[in-house]
Amino acid sequence: MQKISEQAAGQDHDADLIEFLEGSDEVETDALSTEPPWRILIVDDDADVHKATELAMQGLRVEGRPLAFLHASSAAEARVLLRTEPDLAVALLDVVMESEDAGLRLVRYIRENLQQHAIRIVLRTGQPGYAPEIETVQAYDINDYKTKSELTRTRLYTVLTAAIRSYKQICALESNRQGLELIVEGSAELSQLRGLQRFAEGVVTQLCALLGMLPEGLVCAQGAHGDGTGTADARIVAAAGQFSSLIDTPLSAVQLPHVRERLQRCLELKQHVLDDGNCLYFGLSNGRAIAALVDAGRPLSPVDLQLLRAFCSNIAVGFENVLLYSQLLDQAYNDQLLRLPNRLRFIELLDQNLQDPEGVTLALIDLDDFSDINDAFGHSFGDQVLQAVVQRLGSELGFHTSMARVAADVFGLIGPDALVNASTIPAVFVEPFDVAGERLQLSATTGLVRLADSSSIGSELLLDAQIALKRAKQKHRGASEYFSPAMGTDARERFKLLKGLRAGFEEQRLFVVYQPQVDLASGQAIGAEALLRWRREDGSFVPPDQFIPLAEQSGLIISIGEFVLRTACHQLKRMEQSGLHDFRMCVNISLAQFRHIGFIDSLNAALRDTEVNPANLELEITESMAMDDTELVLHLLADIKRTGATVAIDDFGTGFSSLSHLRQLEVERLKIDRAFVHEAQTSSAGLTIAQMVINLGRGLGLRVIAEGVETEEQRQQLLALGCHEGQGWLFAKPMQAEQLERWMEEKRG
Ligand code: C2E
Ligand code: MG
Ligand code: MG
Repeated sequence: MQKISEQAAGQDHDADLIEFLEGSDEVETDALSTEPPWRILIVDDDADVHKATELAMQGLRVEGRPLAFLHASSAAEARVLLRTEPDLAVALLDVVMESEDAGLRLVRYIRENLQQHAIRIVLRTGQPGYAPEIETVQAYDINDYKTKSELTRTRLYTVLTAAIRSYKQICALESNRQGLELIVEGSAELSQLRGLQRFAEGVVTQLCALLGMLPEGLVCAQGAHGDGTGTADARIVAAAGQFSSLIDTPLSAVQLPHVRERLQRCLELKQHVLDDGNCLYFGLSNGRAIAALVDAGRPLSPVDLQLLRAFCSNIAVGFENVLLYSQLLDQAYNDQLLRLPNRLRFIELLDQNLQDPEGVTLALIDLDDFSDINDAFGHSFGDQVLQAVVQRLGSELGFHTSMARVAADVFGLIGPDALVNASTIPAVFVEPFDVAGERLQLSATTGLVRLADSSSIGSELLLDAQIALKRAKQKHRGASEYFSPAMGTDARERFKLLKGLRAGFEEQRLFVVYQPQVDLASGQAIGAEALLRWRREDGSFVPPDQFIPLAEQSGLIISIGEFVLRTACHQLKRMEQSGLHDFRMCVNISLAQFRHIGFIDSLNAALRDTEVNPANLELEITESMAMDDTELVLHLLADIKRTGATVAIDDFGTGFSSLSHLRQLEVERLKIDRAFVHEAQTSSAGLTIAQMVINLGRGLGLRVIAEGVETEEQRQQLLALGCHEGQGWLFAKPMQAEQLERWMEEKRG
């Protein structure tokens, strides 16, 4: 009590100082402010101390906020309050209460048991002898120690102010730390959200968490063009709480003027607008921007703002990533030139249509000779042609159909039978197209699938359409063909076969056999034809007539052909080494192989590596190959001739050779197709043809060999007709290398 009166007396001395302070910024007494008060806990067993403290501090403010006092008259009471009352800024503690060190024990309780580190502690004691050790002050984070007599009103105020300030800083640091944690967590979570809308939603949620409010009152808008006028196309991409209904609304159509105007202002100024309305700005690449509006319902504190800035710089990167990702998605699913779905997306569309396939048709429309247009007029003209076609297709068939670009010059169309059919599509191409001032007559070939006719899913459905398209192409340009299940099995079988062939080649189940060729008169062996064999895993054979065309179509023939050529050359070398210096090895060369750019090189390499006599190697090309594309063939034949190898025209008589062309070809031999050998024996017309073919060859100075000689009669007949060489079952069937060697030995012996 005494001390209190002393303090009250001291008050007078400081009265002028207080007046000064009251007039200053620090000490505002404006009661209108709604700022929450600083909560001060007074712990003292002397009731007068409570009253005096409260009286002395009455009406004073610290950092613009009033003070509120809580009272405890013992350490025990204080413990209860400390446990239950949140946000206590300062505790003014009496040291000596229930016991001599009750105050100090309370301090330990606050720091150690309650783990409250923010609350500031000021110790007050009546007796100077009870001062805590310096270590205690440090260990328990005690702000101040004063004897009650020291604490005049002014001093008390000063002490309290200092304590409150440091409390405020500690809190700021703490919420900063928590906020940063939220940012880190939030960014990690956000980085998993891929769609722009979901990401924006995530931003709403994270921002609100950061500001400690419910996820609402936030709207994002996207301006696609940052040209300063670019809020016209801005849209709400995400909104939460009371604003949720605004999602996908154009910004200009938002009926809440305060929301609309703030977002627009933010996008126009290209910066955060934080004075009224807390609108955050995220500038992105390509002039795009996002504005996020947080209606916190209160002004943002400096800590809030600081966190928001950190958050924004993090999130801008995230937005950028999301946009890039959506761009990637767009590129993955859309054709960039024609702004149509691409093949992948089209397959998805097909799958969706399959849920109700009745009355729906899929068409693949392939522009005829598009590559010629590209070659002749350039690619940019070609692009314009495609655009014109898309436009025409769209305007004539577009309303209830979906269109896609499934390959360079192939469009996919899916829609009702009445719109997508074999007459509507060709009709689109009847009128010429106007492209860059040119009038262009285009045509297209179409493959169609009635969805109900096919049991396939999206990608296979497209395959079905491709099969039909291929059939149509085989008819003529501009044709249309509907898919039938029979076509499908056929094509699928071939696909399976090709897969098997590829595996078979890799697993070395392809091998070469040799069929001897003989002098028809003496029966002497003069050479052999290398023939390819494919034995499947189950031991069955696939005839070359079946798999060679497949290998050709797929390009596999290039490697397979090289394998045969090399194998045959190795075998030839063995024959030469066994003393058969004139042995002729014939190797079939397919069209694709013959025309392949590396063919002459690979021929030279095979000859060089095996060191055979090139004159002993004969390449068989078919008659149709020899007659094709004159210039190229002439060049190739000349190139082959330079290697030293010879050429025979296989299956002669089946193609329609131009005699004048035949005359120009640098070939050695004609190989009469076995059909004529057979015909010659059974009909007189056949005999005449065989005779003509043989005479033709001889007339051109070529050697003639007959294949498919099965009977003695045929041998005699061929001899009579003037054909001197032959190959056929009469002499030997195709055989493995070792067998061939034995067969040759026997012949010689
Ligand atoms: P090709 O070049 O006309 O081969 C002659 C075909 O007639 C061979 O059929 C042969 O086994 C068959 N043959 C031989 N003597 C007789 C006979 O007396 N009567 C009958 N009915 N047939 C006989 P294969 O081996 O089935 O080959 C068929 C076709 O496959 C070949 O016709 C050739 O065009 C192609 N081919 C075979 N191997 C290869 C190769 O390594 N590369 C290329 N590109 N094509 C090959
Ligand atoms: Mg042949
Ligand atoms: Mg033949």
